[in-house]
Amino acid sequence: MDHYNRYNADPPPGNGNVCGMCATELLAQRQNRVAAEDQWRAPYDHLLAKEKYPQFGVDPDNLLPTCHTCNSKAKLAKDLLRDPEGLRRTCFDPWSESAHEQVALQVEFLDILPIATWTMTPIDPINQSKLTTWNEIYRIKERIEGEFLSLREKLTEDLDVRDLAVFKNSIEHKARVRLSSARLTPYNYWRGLLYSSLLRLPDQLLERLRAFCLDGLDPNGDAAATYGV
Ligand SMILES: [Zn+2]
Repeated sequence: MDHYNRYNADPPPGNGNVCGMCATELLAQRQNRVAAEDQWRAPYDHLLAKEKYPQFGVDPDNLLPTCHTCNSKAKLAKDLLRDPEGLRRTCFDPWSESAHEQVALQVEFLDILPIATWTMTPIDPINQSKLTTWNEIYRIKERIEGEFLSLREKLTEDLDVRDLAVFKNSIEHKARVRLSSARLTPYNYWRGLLYSSLLRLPDQLLERLRAFCLDGLDPNGDAAATYGV
């Protein structure tokens, strides 16, 4: 419990209460007026499964708190060191390495409607291999893109679409806020990456995205009245 509480503490070097593997889920809900030792706790993942690597069964470096989805839905019995064909592969050491700045989430306009696309942006081939393992084990691409399937709703709950100037200001503001609280609230990291990528789009595409968001506002609702549509 002491190890867990230090790991999920909010101030650094604590890692916060958001899953460090996926940033999409809380480790465990916190309860007010409940003592630290009685709080709910996320499961500890054996990075190397104890059945296959019993020598690391109780090694603290092999034990990492992860969210329910990472542990019980995505990873299951997958082996970080061997792919499904049994070939040796490399993986990140979550205690010392990170995928930060090697992943991107951006809006693409290839289809009729804009879609959010998750991509790897590795700094070298070794990191490419580590990113691939991480993605295969924890199904990061499917999960992040799945969250943003409802792209219009996700954008309009955060951004101000009244005109292009305020739209751009709100993107800039939210990119900063979301990234600075990435360890506080699920999906903040991914939202921050998404908004940061929007800031690099030309005005013409941003205007297209804004129109796409406006289209989704209920013509009879409060939001439509506010925006005069
Ligand atoms: Zn997770």
